[in-house]
Amino acid sequence: MHRALRHILAAQRLRPFSRNYSVVGTDATVVRGLVGAIGNTPLIRLNKLSEQTGCDILGKAEWMNPGGSVKDRAALYVVKNAEELGQLKPGGTVVEGTAGNTGIGLAHVCRSKGYNLVIYMPNTQSQEKIDLLRMLGADVRPVPAVPFTDPANYNHQAKAFAESLPNAVWTNQFDNVANRQAHIETTGPEIWRQTGGKLDGFVCATGTGGTLAGTARYLKEKSDGQVKVFIADPPGSVLYAYKKEGQLTRTGDSSITEGIGQGRLTDNLAPDWKLIDDAVHIPDAETIEMVYRLLDEEGIFIGASSALNVVAATKMAQQLGPGKRIATMICDGAARYQSRLFSKAWLESKGLLDAIPQHLHKYILL
Ligand code: PMP
Repeated sequence: MHRALRHILAAQRLRPFSRNYSVVGTDATVVRGLVGAIGNTPLIRLNKLSEQTGCDILGKAEWMNPGGSVKDRAALYVVKNAEELGQLKPGGTVVEGTAGNTGIGLAHVCRSKGYNLVIYMPNTQSQEKIDLLRMLGADVRPVPAVPFTDPANYNHQAKAFAESLPNAVWTNQFDNVANRQAHIETTGPEIWRQTGGKLDGFVCATGTGGTLAGTARYLKEKSDGQVKVFIADPPGSVLYAYKKEGQLTRTGDSSITEGIGQGRLTDNLAPDWKLIDDAVHIPDAETIEMVYRLLDEEGIFIGASSALNVVAATKMAQQLGPGKRIATMICDGAARYQSRLFSKAWLESKGLLDAIPQHLHKYILL
């Protein structure tokens, strides 16, 4: 190294960058293409909540995936699976029914691998998500939001369209267990490694159930069943009642959370349902308060499903008692939902304005 540069670095107490230099203290790595950047997200200790509960509350920062959510993992695995099975060949088309995040993950994966993408989604989803999908090159088809039992449901339409097209695959995130496999092979091992195996609980909500089932399977196996696993459920979802009472009964309630809540046991969830120890039900008022609290206390800007997960982690902390370590998923960021979650009119329309403490109203800017 040039003597003058060495002198300047020494004067600034900086290490020379010729050898072993890394700003984050780990070895530098180069990943192969965008898909190589999926996963390996940080596990963040939520400091204030940890102090308050006496437990370590850890949030997996899934918004740091290239597509901005946990669903990048499943998107990569369902496409890889279709390639391996010979269902998808160069120039082929991926078709999926998705509320948004899986579509965004698929859009990135399909672009980077050269596939076309057609997305069917319920027309209740946020405009931000639809716009982003279209900008990423997906053919987005919003359809009426009707239950799974209705043949016009977005999933059935996605399946039928894929079947009508040559060299096309319906990736079927709800019942394709390649989704769950993504979390058995990535999310679970990452959390185990990041905590050094010192973990007492894992909790998260389910859409397809891939995240919960896959992560639970890995953590239960590695810990010989010691890690407790809870499912977190929003209003309108049937899984809380199913865990508590064994009944899959619909209530007709709705929730502000997007991407979670389920009316049935999907093929991703069913085989591992027995691994889930308990369930917590989280009302929207607690979820929205946590969106604002995490922004104010930790500087973390999270979507509603993530806020619900964090509330659930605090409930798990109360149940397990102090001194425990509990991990959950921060599934995506709030930017995707800001026209709703940070709008006074929208909060009022949902009866949730009063759920946000007065000192946090300064964040309601829209
Ligand atoms: N949070 C958000 C924001 C999501 O989009 C999804 C997926 N729909 C989930 C949570 C749930 O993940 P999973 O499908 O793995 O259950």
